[in-house]
Amino acid sequence: MNRKYRKTVIAGNWKMNKTPSETKEFMNQLKTIMPKGRWCDVALCVPAVCIPAAVRAMRDTRVGIGAENCNANASGAYTGEISTGMLVDAGCKYVIIGHSERRAMGETDADVNAKVLAALEAGLTPIMCCGESLEQREAGITDEWIAMQIKLGLAGVSEDKIRKVVIAYEPIWAIGTGRTATPEQAEEVCENIRAVVRKLYSSKNARAISILYGGSMNEKNAFELLAQPDIDGGLIGGASLVPEKFVQIIEAANQPTV
Ligand code: PEP
Repeated sequence: MNRKYRKTVIAGNWKMNKTPSETKEFMNQLKTIMPKGRWCDVALCVPAVCIPAAVRAMRDTRVGIGAENCNANASGAYTGEISTGMLVDAGCKYVIIGHSERRAMGETDADVNAKVLAALEAGLTPIMCCGESLEQREAGITDEWIAMQIKLGLAGVSEDKIRKVVIAYEPIWAIGTGRTATPEQAEEVCENIRAVVRKLYSSKNARAISILYGGSMNEKNAFELLAQPDIDGGLIGGASLVPEKFVQIIEAANQPTV
């Protein structure tokens, strides 16, 4: 982390877990154990039907609620889809875009790009995910792959909007597997992502953008991962479903690193 230049963000991704009633229960528990005083930015991205309960419960807190996906179109004949304008109206501040689980369902880099642009236009903070498979890592093409995902995902994002994007590096082989990237492996890729942003934009913008690590981050390994200079937070799946674990990760992000 480097708190001098950029925000630290701890974001949960609930995936397809918890009902609206369970959401209310979780949020009320979370509120009672949340660290007091100033802390990093905290987001919880929840299933669409849980957004109203989450927003209601966290209205008087600094926890931002987010969605796990959006549609890039403003409205129209897209049965089952949800626009960024609808998310804003429902009280969302964040939206995860391009998670590998959605890419596995057919989402392309062009889709990711359209969603990032739509999210920014609506005033949401897009958490744009990228990550390599185990085969790609073993083939030694991680850096090229990630650079391509970043370039395509950010196409058309203007100089004045780039700092509003949060990038999450999530190696596919580490998601939900209990196999975390080592702090060195995660740092190497996050540093490379920052270099790509530097080339596409400027040193100032690269220094200001928050890059998260995601992939089996938990209350035990968070501190070491977050101590890396280019890792500005975490995107957390499993451990964000348990209030005590999620709070311990927030506490790790609040520790002094140097
Ligand atoms: C995720 O879904 O973005 C994720 C990182 O999951 P987990 O923490 O469970 O690996």
